[in-house]
Amino acid sequence: MDLMKQLEDEYNLGEYENFSSLLRDRLEKNQALNILTSLNTCNCCLKHTINRPSSVDEHYLQEQQSESYPDNIKMGCNCKCRHNSRHICRAINDMK
Ligand SMILES: [Zn+2]
Ligand SMILES: [Zn+2]
Repeated sequence: MDLMKQLEDEYNLGEYENFSSLLRDRLEKNQALNILTSLNTCNCCLKHTINRPSSVDEHYLQEQQSESYPDNIKMGCNCKCRHNSRHICRAINDMK
């Protein structure tokens, strides 16, 4: 997803403390929802399909706490679909 890549690059400049704040500032809510939908079509690997928030109503924050860091158990997939989904969800919640 080009837009996400672009936003990640911007985040890497270090002006924002967290990615979701940047997303909240840069995206319209509709846009964010569209990105969330397309992230959810990603079938990169089983690990990323599990616990990937598919809507803003899910309790992604709880999951995120327990998440740290099964991601270190690398299975060779560097896709950011799940990671980005969570940031997007948080951003959308902040837009309310
Ligand atoms: Zn994956
Ligand atoms: Zn993926």
